[in-house]
Amino acid sequence: MGDRPVIIVTGAGRGIGAAIAIKAAEAGYDVVINYAGNAEAAKQTSATCEAAGAKAITVQADVAKQEGVETVFKASDEAFGRLDAVVTNAGITGVSSKLVDADPEMIERVIDLNVTGALLTAREGAARMMTSRGGKGGNIVNLSSASVWIGSPNDFVWYATSKGSIDVLTLGLSRELAGEGIRVNAVAPGLIDTEIHASAGIPDRIARLGSSVPIGRAGTAEEVADAVLYLMSEQASYVTGTVLKVAGGR
Ligand code: NAP
Repeated sequence: MGDRPVIIVTGAGRGIGAAIAIKAAEAGYDVVINYAGNAEAAKQTSATCEAAGAKAITVQADVAKQEGVETVFKASDEAFGRLDAVVTNAGITGVSSKLVDADPEMIERVIDLNVTGALLTAREGAARMMTSRGGKGGNIVNLSSASVWIGSPNDFVWYATSKGSIDVLTLGLSRELAGEGIRVNAVAPGLIDTEIHASAGIPDRIARLGSSVPIGRAGTAEEVADAVLYLMSEQASYVTGTVLKVAGGR
């Protein structure tokens, strides 16, 4: 077992997850980078983590499913033999539309990953970090969204619904694990400049909406990652069950 703490970040090949992995590496963690299909992006993120002095592994797995979640945690167990933090970051919006026009199978895929995947990932993390089960405690940080207080009408009501579940997961699990040395928090990003908007079929979203954010611009993945690192830090030792807005005043 190494001296450095170990973090698992799901969906860490690109975007916010990659920024979290890199900031964690810079803060002294060894890093498990999970991704879905873009091996090249994950390799680049891993190389940046290693350049910061971390050991990093990449694990391709679909964390919407228990099988994929187990693949990630087994790879982490084998590589590092300890676990200190888990970020349930992997998430998708589906294609933007009104609910009545949305493909039912797409809605199921969003809920499977954003809700079931987060629950299953948090569950595996808790099992390893709980003090009553031989763990040393640690941190779980979930990715919520500004869509929870906006509802995302005409865009992706199903996605907003999935992120509402993240807030409930954060509250309930924080209370369940408070006596186990594990703090559970969430960050709720607003409009953040990543490829998720192009994947939703609205590549001009940042250019169109950035200036309407009270702070006058979209946020960066690094700004969200800083909030995640704060929640996992000793400076946040009395913070649990909190959803921290990182939304530029939205
Ligand atoms: P992104 O740029 O689209 O990146 C998504 C990452 O998740 C990629 O690394 C992707 O892997 C991975 N992924 C997708 N499906 C997966 C699966 N089934 N299993 C494992 N990994 C999977 O997204 P992002 O903008 O960084 O968003 C990250 C999180 O922040 C999400 O939970 C999102 O809902 C939340 N969020 C984002 C915003 C925003 O404005 N960007 C706002 C609020 C909340 P590949 O690279 O292999 O495809």
